[in-house]
Amino acid sequence: MSYVDEVLELVQKRDASQPEFIQAVTEVLNSLRPVIEQDEEKYRKLAILERITEPDRQIMFRVPWVDDNGNVQVNRGFRVQFNNAIGPYKGGLRLHPSVNLGIIKFLGFEQIFKNSLTTLPIGGGKGGSDFDPKGKSDNEIMKFCQSFMTELSKYIGADEDVPAGDIGTGAREIGFMFGQYKRIKGLYEGVLTGKGLTYGGSLARTEATGYGLLYLTEEMVKCHGDKMEGKTVAVSGSGNVAIYATQKAQQLGAKVVTVSDSTGWIYDPEGIDVDLLKEVKEVKRARLTEYAAARPSAEYHEKKNGEHGVWQYKVDIALPCATQNELDLDDAKALVANGVQYVAEGANMPTTIEATEYFQANNVPFVGGKAANAGGVATSALEMSQNSERLSWSFEEVDAKLKNIMVGIYHNIDDAAKEYGMEGNYVAGANIAGFKKVVEAMIAQGV
Ligand code: GLU
Repeated sequence: MSYVDEVLELVQKRDASQPEFIQAVTEVLNSLRPVIEQDEEKYRKLAILERITEPDRQIMFRVPWVDDNGNVQVNRGFRVQFNNAIGPYKGGLRLHPSVNLGIIKFLGFEQIFKNSLTTLPIGGGKGGSDFDPKGKSDNEIMKFCQSFMTELSKYIGADEDVPAGDIGTGAREIGFMFGQYKRIKGLYEGVLTGKGLTYGGSLARTEATGYGLLYLTEEMVKCHGDKMEGKTVAVSGSGNVAIYATQKAQQLGAKVVTVSDSTGWIYDPEGIDVDLLKEVKEVKRARLTEYAAARPSAEYHEKKNGEHGVWQYKVDIALPCATQNELDLDDAKALVANGVQYVAEGANMPTTIEATEYFQANNVPFVGGKAANAGGVATSALEMSQNSERLSWSFEEVDAKLKNIMVGIYHNIDDAAKEYGMEGNYVAGANIAGFKKVVEAMIAQGV
């Protein structure tokens, strides 16, 4: 049996209750076959694949907090410190009822390769809780964040593990957590990224994931002899990534016609009004029905099972920016039938393996989240740099560095795919390029 198959079997058995983690590992290991096959005995002897698929440590803890009615609530907190071969653990904190150990492990595993692709010195980690921020008061959010950080603070530090935002964790939550870390540890240090601008945050961090997605997409489109101007785009989601992806796409002359949330989606043939979307989602924290109510050109559709949602329209570019496994094989078929030309993932693993393979089989250039959404964490690393030198850079400076990094990532993954005879397979290119750097560092540092 090949070494890759041996380790896949091991992971499937050992982590059978973690389907998302198995999915992520399967995708990565399968695409690494050409690299592993070149030196199978060396990698087997060093147990590289066993080591890279097993986190350094996984921390689980109780998060008790008092709600506005005076009742005690209990959630479960997680931090998976996956791999620190190339830098301190780095990755977001997801607050969502679906969070469990398997989800955090899949995200932490992806983060290793994504962070490696940024070219910056950051290892892979992820954390979060099954806490649902929806419908909670500011006071309840603060109570939860303080309790969460009371425990998490024992395991993190500016040179050790630097969490950030993810689904459910934005500037408000990072602020409450930073305050609690400082209170407990007495340290004013860059222990979190995505901080507010008045206390060590970086300009352009808020926009970074969405902008970065578009910088990479623009480069891919250009390298195919094409241009962004005049393209029609479907975006899913309406959180931080979707909002700034929409904004940058429109700045580049494309028209974004969809966004979505957990209960429905918007189709706006005139193009999404980003200012209105920001007002509804960031200021009012309301549902997309409010967007539709204020915008005559927009249709709101309630989500029903088995429908393609935002993927049913005739668009040139699809940018899934919501959550894992939101775009399945049937959605991919609908997009291809409607002539989609490019797909790039703003979320983490939003496309199922079957859907990814369908796009590839139909020659639709497809860039996975590890590469396409790396702009967020890359700018987090730039925030860490600014914190270390106790300076802050201008928006233009950070944005220019972000663009440079994203254009670099596109060429790096393109070259890696070509080197292994898989021209145009950006998924394999990203996994291979990300893996090679981490593995070189692991080998250099011994067992
Ligand atoms: N949660 C983001 C991601 O998936 C950002 C992580 C960070 O900035 O550390 O990459």
